[in-house]
Amino acid sequence: MKYTPEKPPLTGETLDTLTARLAEHGEPTFRAKQILDWVYKKRARSWDAMTNLPKNLRVWLDQTFTFMPSELVLNKESTDVTDKLLLRMGDGSLIETVVIRVPQEGVGIEGSRKTICISTQVGCAMACVFCASGLEGLKRDLSAGEIVSQLLQVCYREDERTPRAREELASFDNIVVMGMGEPLANYDALILALSIVNAPWGLGFGARRITISTSGLVPKILKLAEENLSFRLAISLHGATDEVRSQIMPVNKAFPLGKLIPAVRIFNERHGRMITLEFILIEDINDSIDQAIELRGIALDLHAHVNLIPYNTVDGLPWKRPSVERQEAFADVLRDADVSVTLRREKGHDIDAACGQLRLKTEKSIA
Ligand code: SAH
Repeated sequence: MKYTPEKPPLTGETLDTLTARLAEHGEPTFRAKQILDWVYKKRARSWDAMTNLPKNLRVWLDQTFTFMPSELVLNKESTDVTDKLLLRMGDGSLIETVVIRVPQEGVGIEGSRKTICISTQVGCAMACVFCASGLEGLKRDLSAGEIVSQLLQVCYREDERTPRAREELASFDNIVVMGMGEPLANYDALILALSIVNAPWGLGFGARRITISTSGLVPKILKLAEENLSFRLAISLHGATDEVRSQIMPVNKAFPLGKLIPAVRIFNERHGRMITLEFILIEDINDSIDQAIELRGIALDLHAHVNLIPYNTVDGLPWKRPSVERQEAFADVLRDADVSVTLRREKGHDIDAACGQLRLKTEKSIA
């Protein structure tokens, strides 16, 4: 499922593809670097801002490429530390990009570290029963250019608030691919986008500060293990036995724990970085002490960090978050065995930061 716009987005081009395209048009090779510098380093917002390009080249560029494939339609600031950007693509599809601020001691909110959560698909095909993103199925994959554009949109906004230090290109500290969609189901566009983000002529952003979160597409985890770029991996586990996991994540039927865990082990061996197991706590579904004990075993085996996330309620879905006492009792089982564990404090609940909820509401209200 793809959307092919009339003009491809500039943000989906690499130095090589842009050089080749310009060469076809009879332009010298240095132009590609000049153009990408305008986009990623100087943050030009239009072709006309690229003042060292001849006028006729700017006209040709405008006829050939879409400058920016997404448009900011809503900028929702929460009262806590999470902001949400709603973006509209060329075909009208809506996606969301989230800015999570992690306050640092001694500096104000503007000095906080920023993690950007990006989407890779419009909707999602994985059909996890607890998740708002999958409620209406998959509409389409995002292109590499659309994925990259989310980060530039964040940069535009952050640059206005806090002028970035000269030497840093990105206006944030970490990227998590945990927004709408299953990133590994849109593998090629994902890797192309992240290599543009990583490239010195792009945002120059370190692969080790990028975390890809997956519901567990085993063949793609193995493929990711072979990539030269060393991204961090997070697995949405949410069930520590096949019985519980299959109930809430249909993907577990195709790739049960007996396949998933060995694939993660291979990824670990290749990249040597601690992976994260995400575990949403849902009342009476996966929050029992038995599940905590099983999870402890998996985490110790994989030397993984465990991120416990109290469930965010979704309109129209029956699931609830357990009491704080129950959350703590679950976490204690892991802590007592010296598993590295975080019990995530809620961020962005007031702006519907749970996957897909803002988009769903906006689509309904503008429909
Ligand atoms: N498809 C990928 C990435 C997107 S989901 C994946 O499954 O990892 C990102 C994370 O948000 C996943 O761990 C997902 O399970 C979690 N999530 C989805 N709905 C949620 C909800 N209502 N409350 C808390 N976390 C949720």
